[in-house]
Amino acid sequence: MTTELPPSVYLSSCPNCGGEISSFRLAKGSVCSNCLKSEREFTSVFDLVSALKANGNLNRLKTFDEIGRRFQRVAEFFRNSLGFPPLGPQRSWVLRVLKGESFAIVAPPGLGKTTFGLIMAAYFASEEGVKSVIVFPTKTIVQQGVERLQLIAERTKASFNLVHYHAGLSESQKEEALDALKSGSFDVFLTTTRFMTTNVELLRKVRYRFLFVDDVDAALKASKSARAILEISGLHGGRHKGRQGTAETGENRRDRLRQDRGAEGEEAERQDRGVLFGNDNQGEPHGVVAHGFQAWGSRRLPEERDRRLLEDAGERGGGGRAFA
Ligand SMILES: [Zn+2]
Repeated sequence: MTTELPPSVYLSSCPNCGGEISSFRLAKGSVCSNCLKSEREFTSVFDLVSALKANGNLNRLKTFDEIGRRFQRVAEFFRNSLGFPPLGPQRSWVLRVLKGESFAIVAPPGLGKTTFGLIMAAYFASEEGVKSVIVFPTKTIVQQGVERLQLIAERTKASFNLVHYHAGLSESQKEEALDALKSGSFDVFLTTTRFMTTNVELLRKVRYRFLFVDDVDAALKASKSARAILEISGLHGGRHKGRQGTAETGENRRDRLRQDRGAEGEEAERQDRGVLFGNDNQGEPHGVVAHGFQAWGSRRLPEERDRRLLEDAGERGGGGRAFA
């Protein structure tokens, strides 16, 4: 005796054509039978995309095809820079950045966070013509970052315009770096958290698309600084209020960007790509920045004094997540 239930059919739910699809096929990570005859089960969307491409039916899942191809180029860029491709969690960070997500991560040292940030910036500069801002806790680390990027440029034979700013520069060097930042004559701008928190307005006006903040909690304990970083990174609701006069939720905003897609929408979307990293040395994130991270992941109730900050961060919707 069979007790098998008939499959449910969902309208407008095939991820590739937008048509009807059975619950069985959805559970298999697949598309509808019009898109793909095979009953194969998929664990990777990229395998599914390959199968659709092979039968000439790749439709709405095309964006994953594009991301997959860009991922291969990033992996190649990693190999040329380091001798090996992105490893472990770096792979998912790369994918999330390529998808245009903004996110925050608190993770223990040793996972290649800094390497990831530097190589992504170099990749964007040389392969996609995209500008980046990289923020480190101290001037020493900024200096090391500059040297590592120069090495990456040598190894990959890429050429891009590196500009850096920290308190150790001479007055004329500082002026030169500021001019380059303001006029947009840089590909990668490296600076300190201190510069970032005291130049929020300037950094908001500068056009760049990839922001990488390394080790935020090491340098920041005050909620004022945390707010500055959230605002600049686009992970903070206040930024959009300021720009538009109304608060936008993540969903509203995505809809708006979808509507005015085309060069400008694309630009606006990409400009918000912020990645924040915190170091989790004690096995437990601490400070207001960690609380900010947790707000996106809804991991923990905030203390009263940080409640407003977290509410603001929450307005972004599902923009970022924290992994502790
Ligand atoms: Zn379909």
